[in-house]
Order: sequence, then structure tokens, then C-alpha cells
Amino acid sequence: MTSSSGAGSGGGNRYGTGRDGFGGNRGNGGNRGNGGGDDSSLGPDARLHVVRFAPAKLNLTLAVLGKRDDGYHALHSVMAPLSLGDALTVSAPPPGATRDSLRVSGLPLPPDRDNLVLKAIIASRAAVATTWPGAPAFPPPLAARLAKRIPVAAGLGGGSSDAAAAIRAALAAWTASLQPPETMALASSLGSDVPFFLANSTALVTGRGEFVEPLPDIRGEPPAVLLVTPGLPLATQAVFKAYAGGTRVIDAGRAREISERLAADMRAGMTAASLLARAEDLASANDLQAATASIVPGLRAFMTALQKLLGRPVCQSGSGPTLWALYPTLIEARKAVRFVRLAAVNGTLPLLGAGEPFVGATTIAGRPTAPAEQFEGGVSGTVRPRSVHNWYDTDEPASGDPTEAQGDSKGDESR
Ligand code: ATP
Repeated sequence: MTSSSGAGSGGGNRYGTGRDGFGGNRGNGGNRGNGGGDDSSLGPDARLHVVRFAPAKLNLTLAVLGKRDDGYHALHSVMAPLSLGDALTVSAPPPGATRDSLRVSGLPLPPDRDNLVLKAIIASRAAVATTWPGAPAFPPPLAARLAKRIPVAAGLGGGSSDAAAAIRAALAAWTASLQPPETMALASSLGSDVPFFLANSTALVTGRGEFVEPLPDIRGEPPAVLLVTPGLPLATQAVFKAYAGGTRVIDAGRAREISERLAADMRAGMTAASLLARAEDLASANDLQAATASIVPGLRAFMTALQKLLGRPVCQSGSGPTLWALYPTLIEARKAVRFVRLAAVNGTLPLLGAGEPFVGATTIAGRPTAPAEQFEGGVSGTVRPRSVHNWYDTDEPASGDPTEAQGDSKGDESR
């Protein structure tokens, strides 16, 4: 299914001034897809493609510090991007198109107006309307394609990451730019986790998510992560509501203490071995765990069974229900994937939720060394960013076929 959404700020057809409607200066390279080269050399049917990788995230810690006057909760969270991620392509739409469009392949997700990709493109258009190279015309519509691989409503931040990728892709397609504070304000307006994904590195995230302090990469072989997502989606808003209603962990202050220590140690430079050595602490450094367990019956028992099965600490990411465990290498994490799957089949691990659980292995991702080169393709059809070839050990989701599934719209993350 493909969905169209009005071109946001302008609607109508007040689009760009270049012959392709992209502002007329697309030949300058900038952030464009390196596989696309200069589109004018590709003939009349040439299509611009900008591809951006949208990583999932892990909350290594998540301390809730209190409720703010604006109704959001103040957080202290060390967050890390993962090598598991979605891939977003934006292209020039077919001639005559007056609206942005989105096609989704992979995991089921409606490509409708509530999809954060379309929301982010519309908000980006409004933000650069008067400053992009084609002004006073509005930036033209974009045709977006999303290869969805991050489990949805799972505490892995997929929607927010897609929104950040859509901002970066739209600006690149229009050769538009924003000052960093404007970009961060744009990101914050789309969701609390979006600024983190724009920063694109392990970071200490505070406020409701609007303050992002990038932290140095973990030294050594990137720690591997086993992800186990029970087959039931969970709205972040519902978890914060339960938390606000008083469902809290008993040891108040412990998550904050662990989170502050981790941030300080990472600031000074931390090795992978040292992160692995504090896995037990990390397992009790999520203040939302009790609230999540209160609305997911069986989650606590599932977590205990998983911990016993793996023989290592199991942690919750964000508002859940994704659970994770650290491993020194991807090979070991992949072995654990097979072990968990087997246990799910033979009943050693009780299944939770009606849907299939997602069980995968990935790694904590370092800063991309050359983002434009690393993640851009320019090839139509399946988008396969180079860096995610071996990002997890589950069956590849179908690619290229638009989905037709239904889903919830995104709520405020931390209200
Ligand atoms: P977080 O950890 O940031 O709270 P999450 O991982 O729990 O987020 P998401 O996968 O971001 O949850 O999805 C939350 C909701 O946002 C879903 O109900 C989904 O319908 C909606 N949504 C809108 N656009 C997207 C998108 N591109 N990808 C995923 N979800 C989206």
C-alpha cells in the first residue's frame, strides 16, 4: 500500500524552480546518494535517491528523574545506536506528483499520515520553506520508501529513528540546510527520541530527550547484543501512565546512580570488556521496568526464565517489551539466538503475546566514519545499506512489497 500526504506547509503545486523541481542546484553533490552521481547524466527518467540508515537504539540505562511542569518526565539515559536498523530512501516522485508518498516493505507498518516518515518530511519542508535554494517555491514532494526491520512499538525507537533519517534525507534531497539548534527543535517536535537519533552516536540523553551529549565510542570489538522482543506491541505512553500512577521499582534512585556512573565512565573512555562487566548493574537500571511489567502480564516471569536460560543478566530497553543481553562477540550472540529459538519451540521458554517473538543478534554501533558514503546507494529496488549486511541473525524480512497492515499512531513518549 502506498500512502500520500499533503505537501505540508504549502500543499498545492508551488514547487521548486529547477527543471526537476529540486531547486536547480542538485549537481553540487552535497549529501546526495553517491550511487546517483549527477542525475542529469542519467537520462530523462533519472531519479534522485538519497538513502539513510535508521538504527535501532538500546537504553543501556533509563532513570526517570521526575515529572516536569510541561507534563513530560525528565530522564537520564545512556543510549546506544545498534547495527540493526531500517533503511529509508527518498526519491523525486513521478512527474506530476503533488504529494509526498511512502511505501513500506519488511515488517508490517501502515504508510499513512501517522507514519513518522511523512510527518518528518512535512515538518522539514515547513522548516526550510524560506531558506532552501528553490525559495520562494516550496520544496517539492518526495517519494519515500522504508525497509522496516526494527520491531514496532518495542522500545527500540524505530519510529523516532525513521523520523531522524527522514529529516536528514529530505534536507539532502532538497540541498537544504538548517542551523543545528533549528534541526534539534525540528527533531524534538517530532518525538522525544528523535534528537538522539540525529546525533547518531552513543550519548547521554537528558531532559525529555532534547539534551544529547555524545559520548566516545566504546573501545575494542563492539559489544554484541541479543534482542528478544515478545510478540506484543506496547505503547510508550501507557507505560509512562502506569509509572505516573505509582508503579515504580522499589529501589528508587538506583537507576540514576548507575546511569550517572556509566555516563561518567563512558565520558572518560570505556572498553567493551568494562561495559560487559557491569551487565548486572545495567539489568537494574531501568526505572520503567515495574510499570512495563504491570501492563504486560507474564513479562516478569518471561524475563526470569530468559535470564535462567542464558545464564546472564537480562535488561529491558526503554519502555519495553524488548529485552536484551550483552555478549562479547556477535558469534556468541548468534549462538544465543538459536538457543532462545529452540527454547521457545520446545516450551522451555514460555511464549508471551499472540505474535511471533523477534529474536535477533546485533552489535552496538560506533559513529559512522563516512555517513554519506556508508549508507547511500542510489539503486532502485531493495535498499541494503552496506553496514547492515550481517546485522542480525533472523530471517530477512521480505523486501520490495508494500505492506498493508494496521497499527497505532505514536503517542508522546514520556508524558
Ligand atoms: P520508543 O522506544 O522511542 O518509545 P518504540 O520503539 O516503543 O519507541 P516505535 O517503533 O517507534 O516504538 O513505534 C511507536 C508507534 O509509532 C507505533 O505504534 C507506530 O504505529 C507509530 N509509528 C509511526 N511511524 C512509525 C515508523 N516509521 N516506524 C515505527 N513506528 C511508527
